[in-house]
Amino acid sequence: MTRTPPRALSIAGSDPSGGAGLQADVAVFTRLGAHPMAVPTALTVQNSVGVAEVMPLPAAFVTRQLAHLLADMPPAATKTGMLGTDEVVAALADLLDGRPLPNLVIDPIRHASSGAELLTGPGHRLLAERLLPHAALITPNRDEAALLWGQPVTNGADAARCAQALRESGARAVLITGGHLPDKNHVVDTLADAEGITTWRHPRHMGAVPHGTGCALTAAITAHLAHGLPLRESIRRALGYVGRAIRAAHAPGRGRPYLGDGREFPQE
Ligand code: PLP
Repeated sequence: MTRTPPRALSIAGSDPSGGAGLQADVAVFTRLGAHPMAVPTALTVQNSVGVAEVMPLPAAFVTRQLAHLLADMPPAATKTGMLGTDEVVAALADLLDGRPLPNLVIDPIRHASSGAELLTGPGHRLLAERLLPHAALITPNRDEAALLWGQPVTNGADAARCAQALRESGARAVLITGGHLPDKNHVVDTLADAEGITTWRHPRHMGAVPHGTGCALTAAITAHLAHGLPLRESIRRALGYVGRAIRAAHAPGRGRPYLGDGREFPQE
């Protein structure tokens, strides 16, 4: 038999247009050499213009999918994306309290860029309270970070203070993605981990940010963690992956652009 690729799991919502959510995560996992596993938490009606409708799945069905996988093929690394409801967050937290998962990356997403709610307000508060302590890394954008912190994040100094504060409240490491910070020419991503603060600065991509960029970043970090790379190296490589995927963006529909293949040397 050939070598088994490391298993990476996404627990997230379905995006039938293939730009974000589970479908995007599976594409990134596959491109980065991980075996892709996908537990849906919700279905959406959506295309490149936006999310028209959301149908959350029953929480017990979400955790039964997960428990069945864990009994047979536990993942080396896992990410969570859209969780939908506070019931799903609570059921997931109950499961994790009894069976912690290694290399758990949590994207504390609340709204899609198009405005649709991907997790309820009570769900977001419960996520902060019960899921963050299980996370090896959380990856809020500026708005999500401010919501979790309870204070505005308007510049790099705020991002560093916020990342440290969120780390103290439970997550082992916090990456605040800076795509939304008001620096005209650069994007700054801020990591707080056991070694302190690290920042990455990249030239800002001009034009619309492609759909699913946050999903792809956490999926790429998760794939690298599944391969056994340390957290910072996984983040560094994932930021490179997403930067290249943004430069390779294309427009499959009438709405926002979609990410392309972010590998350095895409295969035939
Ligand atoms: N749909 C699903 C199922 C998602 O998980 C996400 C992001 O997590 C989105 C839509 C929104 O993606 P974006 O805000 O990049 O358009």
